[in-house]
Amino acid sequence: MSYLVLARKWRPQTFSDLTGQGHVSQTLKNAIDSGRIAHAFLFTGARGVGKTSSARILAKALNCERGMSPEPCNQCPACLEITAGTAVDVLEIDGASNTGVDDIRELRENVKYLPSRLRYKVFIIDEVHMLSTSAFNALLKTLEEPPPHVKFIFATTEPHKVPITILSRCQRFDFKRIPLGQVVERLRYIVDQERITISDEALTVVARKGDGSMRDSLSVLDQVLAFCGDQVRDEEVATLLGVVDRRLLLEASAAVFARDTASALGVAAKVDGYGYSMRQFCGELIDHFRNMTIVAAVTDPRDLLDLSEAEFAALREQAGAVPLADLQRHLTILLRAEGEMAHSSYPRLLLELTLIKMATLAPVVPVDELLERLKKIESVGGGGVAADARAQWRPAAGASPTAPAAPPPEQRLASPGREGAAPARPVPEAPVASVATRGAAAPGPRRTGDDWADFVAFAKGAKVRLGSLLEHGSPLVVTAERLEIGFPEGSFALTSLKDRDSLASLKELAARFFGTEPVVALKPLAGGGGAPPNLLEKKKAESARREADLRQVAASHPAVSAALDVFGGTIAEVVSLEQKEKV
Ligand SMILES: [Zn+2]
Repeated sequence: MSYLVLARKWRPQTFSDLTGQGHVSQTLKNAIDSGRIAHAFLFTGARGVGKTSSARILAKALNCERGMSPEPCNQCPACLEITAGTAVDVLEIDGASNTGVDDIRELRENVKYLPSRLRYKVFIIDEVHMLSTSAFNALLKTLEEPPPHVKFIFATTEPHKVPITILSRCQRFDFKRIPLGQVVERLRYIVDQERITISDEALTVVARKGDGSMRDSLSVLDQVLAFCGDQVRDEEVATLLGVVDRRLLLEASAAVFARDTASALGVAAKVDGYGYSMRQFCGELIDHFRNMTIVAAVTDPRDLLDLSEAEFAALREQAGAVPLADLQRHLTILLRAEGEMAHSSYPRLLLELTLIKMATLAPVVPVDELLERLKKIESVGGGGVAADARAQWRPAAGASPTAPAAPPPEQRLASPGREGAAPARPVPEAPVASVATRGAAAPGPRRTGDDWADFVAFAKGAKVRLGSLLEHGSPLVVTAERLEIGFPEGSFALTSLKDRDSLASLKELAARFFGTEPVVALKPLAGGGGAPPNLLEKKKAESARREADLRQVAASHPAVSAALDVFGGTIAEVVSLEQKEKV
């Protein structure tokens, strides 16, 4: 006896045999019970989910000799003939190979005649979307005025290709992908009847390969049985079907969660060793982490996951201890890696790097935990100070009057933008002979006490370029009688200022600033120093000094030191509020 493939042998013969399409079979049963039966049906859905089987069951239900019934007897001659495909009044037409208008004309001729033996003539047109436009038009005429003894059942995987005029004349049923659990259940029933030894895990692998199609799942099972015989071992199934062993996925996630980079790399080596495609494995891993994310995020995730009970339990165990935010970050990393793998010549390296990245990912500290830690700081630093520190999370800002630092910090911080405000501090002063007898006839210039800085600012206000050049100069003598400025020998500033026009401008500005006519001298300076610093150098030194100050104040602030203790960090940068606001 020739071997009958499982899909044909176990084709459902009643609506209750039909797996995963409860909504369809219930509606059809109700229609038959109530006698309100449409004359045209459209069954849509992916391949192998039971459309054609349902069409045959419906044909039997309509024609069973024991009376029209939702559960045909499958024993009377009518039922048996329809099951065998030999009933003259039930015509199965393959839309893919009978697409022309002539085929439909023939059908229309046939429709006119009464059924020869059965109650109804049933036309089952599979892949109906393949019909040509003219064939559809011919069919439409029949559908508009159908004889009472005729029923049409159309099946299609692509309902959007069926003209709306046809669709509107059919009762439509959408067949769903069959959930994994239900496929496994049906497979279990079949293998038990067939006396085959196979684990639920292996059946799950088979069903997953079938991807929601019962027919495909049974074909896969046929393939497995042809290889393994009726004693099926789990490893054989994974190897034969070229699917990634779920255990490897669990191993990968376990290594990542345990921050065990060696084991994680071991997984990559195994993937390579088994000959799996790195990208396929990465895709499976994405699915795996997606499942774990759902397990962690949803109270009752069973409906959302295509998983067997054993797989579900394993996921729950692993995902239980991992924060949801971490799972999402892992998923993001994997998704990026999968995209990159498509274009990479080094998929294994990419997988390894990805696994290492995941295994060394710094854990996310939940916000409520951070708040808890902040409260601790509050209790250490004293309410007011901590509140201040929290409101403006800039260490220098919360300078507390109770700070133990010897020089009162606010004195140094009070006006960090201006010099001279901290007289206690020895500023590297230039040997400037300050002039007390400044002429009163200079209303414009701003005076801060540093004549050189004031003069340069004044000059810059009048002539920007000239002022900028002066910033490079060292003030050797600055009095109302004599202005002596040193520049590095051969420097650009010196050459530029020695130009006749520039020198004239400089003299004029000096006269306006000091209210006298000081002698202006430009001196080349040999390297080595000794000359007072120019304004640029002074500014630089000043900001370095200020930052060191701020850092010291910040570090000794109780709120800051508490934060350093609690969070375990270091001060990376200290920004004064004034500076911050300028930015
Ligand atoms: Zn029957």
